[in-house]
Amino acid sequence: MPSDRDVTTLGRESAWDGVRAVVAGFGVSGFAAADTLNHLGADVVVLDESEGDAHRAEQAHLLEVLGADVRLGPGSTAALPQDVDLVVTSPGWRPTAPLLAEAAARGIPVWGEVELAWRLRGPDAAPWLAVTGTNGKTTTVQMLESILQAAGLRAQAVGNVGTPILEAVMDPAGRDVLAVELSSFQLHWTQSMSAQAAAVLNLAPDHYDWHGGADAYAAAKGKVYERAQLACVYNVADDATMRLVEEADVVEGARAIGFTLGIPEPGMVGIVDDLLVDRAFVGNRATSAAELAALADLDNASPHNVQNALAAAALARAHGVPAAAVRDGLRAFRLGPHRISTVAESGGVRWVDDSKATNPHAARASLLAFERVVWIAGGLAKGAAYGDLVRDVRERLAGAVLIGADRDLIAAALAEHAPDVPVEVVDADDADVLMDAVVVAAARLARADDTVLLAPAAASMDQFRDYAHRGDAFAAAVQRRS
Ligand code: ADP
Repeated sequence: MPSDRDVTTLGRESAWDGVRAVVAGFGVSGFAAADTLNHLGADVVVLDESEGDAHRAEQAHLLEVLGADVRLGPGSTAALPQDVDLVVTSPGWRPTAPLLAEAAARGIPVWGEVELAWRLRGPDAAPWLAVTGTNGKTTTVQMLESILQAAGLRAQAVGNVGTPILEAVMDPAGRDVLAVELSSFQLHWTQSMSAQAAAVLNLAPDHYDWHGGADAYAAAKGKVYERAQLACVYNVADDATMRLVEEADVVEGARAIGFTLGIPEPGMVGIVDDLLVDRAFVGNRATSAAELAALADLDNASPHNVQNALAAAALARAHGVPAAAVRDGLRAFRLGPHRISTVAESGGVRWVDDSKATNPHAARASLLAFERVVWIAGGLAKGAAYGDLVRDVRERLAGAVLIGADRDLIAAALAEHAPDVPVEVVDADDADVLMDAVVVAAARLARADDTVLLAPAAASMDQFRDYAHRGDAFAAAVQRRS
């Protein structure tokens, strides 16, 4: 049956009774969506191919007690039920998934949890400061949260960083402002968001397999700027981000604000000597500048991390935060685990876990932060190519240890562009056994003053639960050896 309720007009105060909603995918955001829709009075069906763990079983039970229909296990998502008014999909699902394709063919709206959250904002809702980009999103929203909190605001980092946006939006306690991390998948399913200020940190190949190519990936990222109210923050060193601003349809008066590691022009934030400086949100942009912080205030002043800090500062300044709060917030901030964290130093060799470098662009930033590196790489390439990366970093490579499903792609790039770099390939079914062998191989290749860097340039799910498991396994293997 065709759907007979127009959900596009519904908000927080509307009557959702009788709205038939399917939640596709029962992960963190799927639970939030199902719980919220159920609470609003909709008839909710949750579908997922996987039964999941005990925690998920508990959540499923809770929703069932509240009246939802939760169908988990193989075959559950094969077809879309009859009589559906709305599908809320997990960001991981590809648009080509049969159930989503069927929804599209039947003319049923498909939203992500972000779209649902935007539509359910209350009348005095907190503005959103939105961050996307191939790399640095989590770090930047966490820096932004720290800055906003230093300004005394009730601020929270939400979205792809972990806490579903819906949770914050529906919390009766309210927030003053949200620092929202958005992945390209989440943006793909977002249609009406209008951020107060938005940033694309950088744009490099990633997730092309999901999106179907570079253009579709860039288009998804560019959606973060659509309807921006005050500022579109872009990376001066990455033309593609500026083009996305130019192509966006923004609220009249919204400004394009560049961030740069060089000296900022009027209308930008950047670096002068060893200071982060604002020439965008100051009285007279032509003549004045505000000192925001010193590089020494940062936990890690690698170039990519300084870019993240500048982007966070620009978003905070767009929101009206004073310069002193930028400094205090950046001082208080510490990088999260598995992001260029030193796990051991022994025999003059530094062992660094950057397991979160899951694509070539991230690995490049990480490799360029060290002089001579034994590089541990490999995993799932997600459609990425490695030639450019190897060419950019080959002078620094003392050796490479390769793991994972797509290691041959990296081996081929090394053979072509860095034939003199010694390469060891390591394989094992068990994660700990694998990492023990990786550490032995890396130790063989490393000399005093080298850095052994786990920056895999690939996703982890072929051999590990996730990037955190990969990083932890590495750190544990390093500890066992020393
Ligand atoms: P995301 O949330 O986008 O995955 P993270 O802040 O978790 O980003 O950082 C992921 C990895 O990307 C880091 O471990 C580091 O290797 C790399 N990285 C972080 N910021 C940048 C940046 N601005 N440019 C390039 N690489 C970066």
